[in-house]
Amino acid sequence: MNALSPAAEAEVGRRLLSPTFDRWAEQAANCGHCARPVRLRGQATTVDRVTGEVLSTYDSANEPDGVLYTRCGNRRASVCPSCSHEYKGDMWHLLAAGAAGGMKGVPESVATHPLVFATLTAPSFGAVHGLRRNGGRPSMCRPRSTSAVCEHGNPIGCRTKHAEGDRRLGQPLCAQCYDYTRHVVWQWWSPELWRRFTIALCRTLAAHLGLTQKDTHALVRVSFAKVAEFQRRGVVHFHALIRLDGPPTDTAEFPAPLAGVSAQQLCKLVHVAAARVWFDAPATEARGELRRLRFGTQVDARAVTTAATREVGRADHPDDGLHPETVAAYIAKYATKACDDFGLPPGLRNAEAARRMGIVEHVCRLLAEVQYLAQSGGPKYLPLAKWGAMLGFRGHFSTKSRRYSTTLGRLRSARKRWSVQQLRDRLTGRTNSMADVDARDAEETTLVVSSWSLDGIGWLNAGDAALAATAAAQAREWSDDRARARRATQL
Ligand SMILES: [Zn+2]
Ligand SMILES: [Zn+2]
Ligand SMILES: [Zn+2]
Repeated sequence: MNALSPAAEAEVGRRLLSPTFDRWAEQAANCGHCARPVRLRGQATTVDRVTGEVLSTYDSANEPDGVLYTRCGNRRASVCPSCSHEYKGDMWHLLAAGAAGGMKGVPESVATHPLVFATLTAPSFGAVHGLRRNGGRPSMCRPRSTSAVCEHGNPIGCRTKHAEGDRRLGQPLCAQCYDYTRHVVWQWWSPELWRRFTIALCRTLAAHLGLTQKDTHALVRVSFAKVAEFQRRGVVHFHALIRLDGPPTDTAEFPAPLAGVSAQQLCKLVHVAAARVWFDAPATEARGELRRLRFGTQVDARAVTTAATREVGRADHPDDGLHPETVAAYIAKYATKACDDFGLPPGLRNAEAARRMGIVEHVCRLLAEVQYLAQSGGPKYLPLAKWGAMLGFRGHFSTKSRRYSTTLGRLRSARKRWSVQQLRDRLTGRTNSMADVDARDAEETTLVVSSWSLDGIGWLNAGDAALAATAAAQAREWSDDRARARRATQL
């Protein structure tokens, strides 16, 4: 805990010395030390459906602050590290389930289906400084003759070997050469490009099999899970897991595909489909001209196979394939990054405000272009105004087709049942494993009657917030350690 105001320090002291501190700490732990929990007032009564017997009652009035604290559920780490961490964990389970199977209701047999990890990037909008590597060693940014300059008099090369943390990374060599309009227009329409890619891949697959799309659909289904990640230059790229399944039957939700397509063939089809996709962005009134948008030529597609090593850091060996867990952990890591990397607060829309905050010039210019197009780009670009902090990206950071694996909703309701069960067990002095809850779930005999009203959002004062934040950081470290240990024992 650092930089607390004297008032907050006094609040921390009062809380720690309070006779109800233990119960408060327990409440804080139960809502995962959320940064700005939702405070509820109300009661819940658990009734046996058959006998009508009241098994337990809960009343927030009996809690130290007279409220029940529940998670805010926000996915952005800048808003709530705890809830975003939980979301990341959920994403991991979800994606690992879809890749490896054998968990969360997805059968182990899906691991035998063709699966590809693909990265689709934006094209170049102008040369930017970058971390370059040559066989793992840092190499020169853009080795060109030192005297060559662009029409604005800026060097077109950079012989620096940039290190991680260099503020020039992702910034253009010449801001005047950089096409900010095209960058923002591409970002704005990128969800449409992605949608077209999913359609193109199905078409490409049908052509590969020499069948109509309808006949293909009867044999093989393509499912997707993707996350959008911001690159340093402020444009998103898409990481996707693409898997082939058979059409679902009455007995199997995830059967094997009925057409023989290998993961390696699927990689080739991804390349073909990505190269074919285009979208003509509506002309902006201010900047005119229709822009044909495409993905960049740097498409990466690799087979995901349990035969691969679990090591990360093997990105430069594309033919080795990737282990499903490596991919799932990698993709989940980026699911919560959002714009946090740019240090942009959620409501920021104004380039001038960003400059005053010391945000890098390239990002300020992008913000300015977002503003400009929102104001003068015409009706199709008007909604951009709301997406300034996302630099014009309006898509979801993670999406998946319905059948990819279990849903976040299912994981959430499992956890909600679990916490209701914990509450009930604490009151009745019983303990249960998650398996018991699942078993009981099939034959629910109790009924929870509850009524809640909103008391407010957030901790009651800065002292409580600081206590919760400290505990949250410790809890996350602890659970990361445990998860690492658990994965290590599975190797
Ligand atoms: Zn939260
Ligand atoms: Zn450079
Ligand atoms: Zn220039």
